[in-house]
Amino acid sequence: MRSLPYFCRGEVVHGFGRGSKELGIPTANFPESVVDSLPADINTGIYYGWARVDNGDIHKMVMSIGWNPYYKNTKKSMETHVIHTFKEDFYGQILSVAMVGYIRPERGFKSLDELIAAIHSDIEEAKRKLDLPEHLKLKEDNFFKTPVSTTTRSDKIMNGH
Ligand code: ADP
Ligand code: MG
Repeated sequence: MRSLPYFCRGEVVHGFGRGSKELGIPTANFPESVVDSLPADINTGIYYGWARVDNGDIHKMVMSIGWNPYYKNTKKSMETHVIHTFKEDFYGQILSVAMVGYIRPERGFKSLDELIAAIHSDIEEAKRKLDLPEHLKLKEDNFFKTPVSTTTRSDKIMNGH
């Protein structure tokens, strides 16, 4: 995928209430505008990278890009699980992400346990891969140095690469 690494940011919106949080794996959803701006060569599936909420610390993340059931699977959704324990939810805040690499395509699971196990293995792979020097250096990218301001908030979206 030639578009990687891909940087984008947007406001965290409510998802489809699939109960990701109940599974212990909350996923922060991006608005449609951010999803619509994805380059054409970004396939659906699981990605790893870096994430930051507003002007907070930069954490490792895993992201799922999939088909959005609300739009009869004609539109994509982007859901980010930040590998960090937050004290509070962060709906309405600005999530900045650097998508760094691809883990696997979307797939079906026979049971909830199988799905949870797959996500945990994705998280382990993300943690390992992001420790490689070429990926660690993306944490230092200027993209994460730009403070998220009132301007960014009112724009709601800023895609770049
Ligand atoms: P929704 O269907 O609204 O996306 P989820 O159960 O997936 O609900 O929970 C997602 C919300 O949980 C995020 O929007 C965010 O506010 C909060 N949250 C708390 N911790 C995390 C985390 N580590 N990663 C992602 N979201 C988190
Ligand atoms: Mg979610």
